[in-house]
Amino acid sequence: MAKTNQKWHERFRDRGLRFTQPRRVILDVLDNTADHLSAEEIYMRVHKKYPNIGLTTVYRNLITLERMGIVTKFHFGDGCHRFELIENKKKPDHHHHLVCTGCKRIIDYDDFMDEEIEYIKKVESALSRKHSFNITDHVIQFYGLCKKCKAA
Ligand SMILES: [Zn+2]
Ligand SMILES: [Zn+2]
Ligand SMILES: [Zn+2]
Repeated sequence: MAKTNQKWHERFRDRGLRFTQPRRVILDVLDNTADHLSAEEIYMRVHKKYPNIGLTTVYRNLITLERMGIVTKFHFGDGCHRFELIENKKKPDHHHHLVCTGCKRIIDYDDFMDEEIEYIKKVESALSRKHSFNITDHVIQFYGLCKKCKAA
């Protein structure tokens, strides 16, 4: 078993869940891409090698992976959910997104993270106090036009 597989296997075992074939295959797809894929796109990649795995199975397992904190689900305003592995070897663990409304391209960035963390911490603690709200995470997305679309 490959090293990453071993790691996933333990995560499932710790929760009393089985590391089934669809889960292994979905994680393999997400682990080998820098793209933010929709359930349908993941299904198409899975389907090439494993035609026995259906779209419903892919979708259901993505929700499980999200609940387990392995995958993040995003809305980028293009009418579908898109998924990304939280610990992706191709990306920094903590990053945010620039979303092009022209070509729908999604750019990962991790610039200015030190400044962001400082600011976010301040805002989070103030919000927590004001609304008695326990904040666990945040999502930051900027919408606009990429270099290519801006020139067109
Ligand atoms: Zn952040
Ligand atoms: Zn663009
Ligand atoms: Zn991303």
